[in-house]
Amino acid sequence: MSARSELASPAVANRGRHSLGSLLVQNIGELVTNVAGTGEGGPLGIRRRAAVLVEDGAVAWVGPTADAPAADRRIDADGAAVLPGFVDSHAHLVFAGDRATEFAARMAGQPYTGGGIRTTVRATRAASDDELRATVRRLRAEALRQGTTTIEIKSGYGLTVADEARSLRIAAEVSGETTFLGAHVVPAEYADRPDDYVSLVCGPMLVAAAPYARWIDVFCEQGAFDADHARAILACGRAMGLGVRVHANQLGPGPGVQLGVELGAASVDHCTHLSDADIDALASTRFDCMCADGGHTTTVATLLPGAEFSTRSPYPDARRLLDAGVTVALATDCNPGSSYTSSMPFCVALAVREMRMTPAEAVWAATAGGARALRRDDIGVLRPGARADLVILDAPSHLHLAYRPGVPLIRQVLHNGAPI
Ligand SMILES: [Zn+2]
Repeated sequence: MSARSELASPAVANRGRHSLGSLLVQNIGELVTNVAGTGEGGPLGIRRRAAVLVEDGAVAWVGPTADAPAADRRIDADGAAVLPGFVDSHAHLVFAGDRATEFAARMAGQPYTGGGIRTTVRATRAASDDELRATVRRLRAEALRQGTTTIEIKSGYGLTVADEARSLRIAAEVSGETTFLGAHVVPAEYADRPDDYVSLVCGPMLVAAAPYARWIDVFCEQGAFDADHARAILACGRAMGLGVRVHANQLGPGPGVQLGVELGAASVDHCTHLSDADIDALASTRFDCMCADGGHTTTVATLLPGAEFSTRSPYPDARRLLDAGVTVALATDCNPGSSYTSSMPFCVALAVREMRMTPAEAVWAATAGGARALRRDDIGVLRPGARADLVILDAPSHLHLAYRPGVPLIRQVLHNGAPI
């Protein structure tokens, strides 16, 4: 399992010039480690009256505040809760313009079809690199302030060779988790010859995009790409060394989830309309890997409740997935059309209120679940060796993330061991 650090983060940029020294976060009232089997809270691995020592951007030690080693600097959490930084494993940040008017029309009764993607494609193609870069950086900073220390960023609003490549090049300036989504929708100029567009995606577009991408993704949905096209595109990406993710079963039942499982996808995302066979397929996934947690990984079901909120659609049945033993992640789907939020705390609150996840399940899914969806074992967890991505809450417990929705509860964020 490769662990790629975020590119261009301040801590990484500074590391070569001088040591950051050691930093102790002490007097943590409730520390969510996500190390199962330690402390309370099952998978959350909760420790009380805890401290975390950070050195060189990584967690160096976790234990009781009373036993904490000396450090160059200290942050006093003053009894607050601390958890791993959120891992947002599904976001579309490279675009121009917004679709607030479309949102208002939808709230007035117009259904969401996904067709508005082409509106953003036109605006994105017309934008300069600097305009796209400014939007990506603004949204990245907005997410970081809300506790998101890792964010996956997809292309998919360029849909030409040059525009997809530049979208990913700009995304890679702020994240190591970049995803080629040339197969977001068939662009207008290929509307009557989708086979030709699939050939373009699998050929020159993939070649141009792959140097800047870790993943490949397809919007497998009626009106976007069918199972045959999606399989062909994902197989090409995999042959180029990209990991597989799928937008699946968002707007209706379809082949996306089972296709993702068939291709060993790290994640199938949305999962709003699932059959029993889809659930069985997800529950049965178990691939060999070099994971720290037992030598296997799965296809994660990534739920994106911001999309259902913003399209006024029925939410996915998280309870059914969890009860079947499927690994669930939560992510924002941040995009200008169907979910223009960068807030993981908002998604946690929605998951608890609308999808019957417990607060503990939702917090795990927004941290460790997101890490699994990106096949990462160095984030979403606080144990020695993990990246020092921490969120200090303005609250005594992780429960408050769902209990106090809409309230700015993120007191401080450490990214790569450095306060932002
Ligand atoms: Zn999406």
